[in-house]
Amino acid sequence: GSVHLARELLFSLAMEHVTLKPLLYDEHALEPHIGRETVALHYGKHHAGYVQKLNELIAGKPEETVGLEQMIRRSEGAIFDNAAQIWNHDFYWQSMHPDGGGAPEGELKEAIIGIFGGFERLRRDFLDAGTAHFGSGWLWLVSHRDSLRITATPDADLPLRYGDTAILCVDLWEHAYYLDYQNDRARYLEAFVDHLANWEFARANWKVAQAQWSNAATSTPLLRQASR
Ligand code: MN
Repeated sequence: GSVHLARELLFSLAMEHVTLKPLLYDEHALEPHIGRETVALHYGKHHAGYVQKLNELIAGKPEETVGLEQMIRRSEGAIFDNAAQIWNHDFYWQSMHPDGGGAPEGELKEAIIGIFGGFERLRRDFLDAGTAHFGSGWLWLVSHRDSLRITATPDADLPLRYGDTAILCVDLWEHAYYLDYQNDRARYLEAFVDHLANWEFARANWKVAQAQWSNAATSTPLLRQASR
């Protein structure tokens, strides 16, 4: 009857507390730099797998009542790993665009010139950090306080844990590039920077991070001193 139906509906809603966010482009849209098969597997199996696993892990637990970022801040072990991987992948898909690549414009360009000395230096440091990172993980451009910084994190780890704001990220796990580049991570990273990097997304993230920093600095002057 309807009670049974309602219970089933509630159950299925509860089971889908965390959802797989839709891709904003077709699976083949990043070709020839990242192939359709890679995106199909990476999004449809790996990313979707983390979502399914996390929903299983949090079923009936307090984590079911909080958002993904809260879950990441409060959890460790398998719940942290799966929650962080979902956040990282959501961010990674947005960090790429079929018409991306090259250098950013506007305020972010100015910031990069001020902090790194120029885009070419940022590009080289970014590629170096990504190729030097041992094993699985993530390569990031982050806002650290009122500055920009390149970091790499192991496994599922992410800037949120260190109080940094993500600006752009690249998945360094082999499943992200092995079908297209085999073991050649450097070529995958070059393709990302030169053809896929979504600088519009990065600019929006940088703007938010700067606003947050200037608000925090205004309300707590000691924080600004501490960064000097
Ligand atoms: Mn991945």
